[in-house]
Amino acid sequence: AKANGKNQVAFFDSSMTRELVRRREIEGELRAALQRDELSIFFQPIIDLATGKIRSFEALVRWFHPEKGELRPDEFIPVAEETGAIVTLGNWITAQAARAAAQWPDDITLAVNLSPLQIKAPGAALGILNSLRDAGLSPTRLELEVTETLFLEDSPTVVSFIEELSAVGVRFALDDFGTGYSSLGYINKWPFSKIKVDRSFVSGPNVGRKSDAIIRAVSQMAATLDMDIVAEGLETIEQVSAVRDAGCNLGQGYYFSRPVPDYLAAMLLAQDRES
Ligand code: C2E
Ligand code: CA
Ligand code: CA
Ligand code: CA
Repeated sequence: AKANGKNQVAFFDSSMTRELVRRREIEGELRAALQRDELSIFFQPIIDLATGKIRSFEALVRWFHPEKGELRPDEFIPVAEETGAIVTLGNWITAQAARAAAQWPDDITLAVNLSPLQIKAPGAALGILNSLRDAGLSPTRLELEVTETLFLEDSPTVVSFIEELSAVGVRFALDDFGTGYSSLGYINKWPFSKIKVDRSFVSGPNVGRKSDAIIRAVSQMAATLDMDIVAEGLETIEQVSAVRDAGCNLGQGYYFSRPVPDYLAAMLLAQDRES
């Protein structure tokens, strides 16, 4: 048992070290990546399930690394959060996304993901408003997606951030709904206009009678409260029908479109208007 334990420690060590090395690399290269133009914003349509038309696009950041290839945000956003680089990165993302969105028809909105650290940085709300102004995008066309981790600690900075932006018409969506602990409490407390039901309710081992009942209940609540409810991660027509029947009014996922660069988003919109 002793030898075994030793092996495990050794294994743990080397994988930890590899992980650390990779994080260090990412940390160092992230700064340069912005300058070198390796990052870009992709857009994934969010569809009105009643009409099949595009209602908005979610901005999703991509990093095309010259040696490592495409890095997923799940890999580098946490590193950017740890190092504080998320503030610069986040401002850049909002500015780029707003510029693309300013080219879309007025009734198409833009959803941007915000990390808690970004919101807690001084001047966060002002930074977002400046990006919108520079891009010529009305605040009423912006929706900020946040997860409940934002509210884990009661922070006055978060309160004023949300109040300041709500006052000028920016809307808030509760992302990854159903993965945390007390989302209903947050819905009661904060002015969300949209709930995004996590993909784990749409596909995977936990999908069934219970997940269906939860989506139904939350959809009913959303309708009563005049909130949108979007199902994420829709990959098949069966999943689309299921969430539509359960009462979700919006849907997003590979079934409709993968996240695409801005010029393809504009093409999707043009096609959508023709049909
Ligand atoms: P999220 O906000 O929950 O974004 C949804 C993720 O699901 C995206 O992954 C999207 O590409 C993926 N997705 C969409 N449709 C489908 C589908 O049908 N099937 C499957 N399997 N996946 C689908 P992505 O782009 O890799 O982003 C991962 C996470 O990284 C996001 O989760 C978000 O938390 C974070 N993130 C992405 N972009 C940004 C950003 O600009 N800023 C911040 N702060 N976080 C970001
Ligand atoms: Ca999101
Ligand atoms: Ca999500
Ligand atoms: Ca997420």
